[in-house]
Amino acid sequence: MKYYSTRDKAVRLEGAEAVKMGLSRDGGLLTPETIPQIGEAFLKSLTDAPYQVRAAKVMGLYLTDYSQAELLQFAENAYGPDKFDTEAVAPVRTLDRTTHCLELWHGPTSAFKDMALQMLPQLLSAALRKTGEKKTACILVATSGDTGKAAMEGFADVARTKIMVFYPKDGVSAVQEAQMVTQEGENVGVCAVVGNFDDAQAGVKRIFSDTAIRETLAQRGYFLSSANSINWGRILPQVVYYISAYCDLVRDGKISMGEKVNFCVPTGNFGDILAAYYAGKMGLPVGKLICASNCNDVLTDFLRTGVYDRNRPFHTTMSPSMDILVSSNLERLLFDLSGENDGEVRSYMAALSESGRYEVSDTIKAALKEAFWGGFCSEESTAEAIGAYWKKGYLIDTHTAVAASVMEQYRRETGDGTVTVLVSTASPYKFCNHVLTAIGQPPAGDGVELLDQLKAATGTTVPRRLAALKGKARRFDLTCEKPGMDGVVLNFLQ
Ligand SMILES: *Cc1c(COP(=O)(O)O)cnc(C)c1O
Repeated sequence: MKYYSTRDKAVRLEGAEAVKMGLSRDGGLLTPETIPQIGEAFLKSLTDAPYQVRAAKVMGLYLTDYSQAELLQFAENAYGPDKFDTEAVAPVRTLDRTTHCLELWHGPTSAFKDMALQMLPQLLSAALRKTGEKKTACILVATSGDTGKAAMEGFADVARTKIMVFYPKDGVSAVQEAQMVTQEGENVGVCAVVGNFDDAQAGVKRIFSDTAIRETLAQRGYFLSSANSINWGRILPQVVYYISAYCDLVRDGKISMGEKVNFCVPTGNFGDILAAYYAGKMGLPVGKLICASNCNDVLTDFLRTGVYDRNRPFHTTMSPSMDILVSSNLERLLFDLSGENDGEVRSYMAALSESGRYEVSDTIKAALKEAFWGGFCSEESTAEAIGAYWKKGYLIDTHTAVAASVMEQYRRETGDGTVTVLVSTASPYKFCNHVLTAIGQPPAGDGVELLDQLKAATGTTVPRRLAALKGKARRFDLTCEKPGMDGVVLNFLQ
């Protein structure tokens, strides 16, 4: 299987090269040349298999330059009992006859980013071997919270990789900061940047494009790489859990083989829901993909009108991982829906960078309506959904609550009674203050103290590693100004 660029189909790479590069040199996203097809026999063969086997089998369809034995080993490392707090890895919890919740936050950092970031480092380190790369990969990350920690946890002590994370000094939650500054591993580094997320992100982008820094690093034996969701190695492990959820529902007699299910996904960068789209293209019986946004509703408008327009106010919300106005992975969807027309994708992306706006063709508009339904919800509705679900005995986080609220809207407006899987992306314990407020318990205290309050108020269990943060020593105490980020990187990569 080869991978080509959404902006230039003449670029053709093996899977390992695509994982190593992250992004094509023309700025396009590396995308599989064909979508492997699965049928009922394939699904049946996975129905009684553990998650690790499902992962190896699904990923093997795309990464033909990796062996099954290799992929199975990676899946066992990524999703083993030392990493995940449930044997099921991504369990499906039934809420009522037509609603099931896919819990993706049982990994080491309590957010769904672990599903991919426990796998990517292994794919990358094997890619270095397969491509004969002599240098060490250095992953640079700017994070608004979840990605940085999940990436560090995934790359910690992975051979021939190093990882440096920059986060905005006053822009992450107390739990998120505690998670990052206590990170273990000999190859990790963390630094707070005085400024906001955009400052950290702009700094990282500048370092990536600085040829003098790249040359210095090359002489020292390093090249820079990215763990962001534009990397195919992050999308592919996400395709697995949609197929896995379907197999669970069949296994448990909740649906019959071949029956369609909807997926409702809280969306930011469009990575997670794109993986669901690929699962459907492979032949998984998917009905509608419900794309849920918070009040940063650029995707809702796009799916309804075919016009993508980022020229609008940016809102900071209680679901910060979805506070995003440019959803990078949409480019892969446009490539597919345009019949893999790289020229058409280039023209949309050029318009986006020039004016922040583009309008897709009528063909794409029709295809969008067929596959997706977009909706958004306010901060009040997000909090209401947390309260309503808790009344029914199920505690959800702020991101999942956005999806829950949009799923209700969808059902009200369309009357669709298809079985729906609600995708749950984070543990409520990552966002204690908002969750406590939403269930009518005013937060008393701050930061990690609130873990105990949420536990006492709900009788639920604090994820093991979040509970352990309280006693954990701070390992990093580095702060820099924005222009100082270069120095931090050069110092880190001696
Ligand atoms: C990253 C994230 C999302 C958004 O996922 P995308 O792949 O960016 O669409 C949703 N919820 C949580 C908790 C996240 O960390």
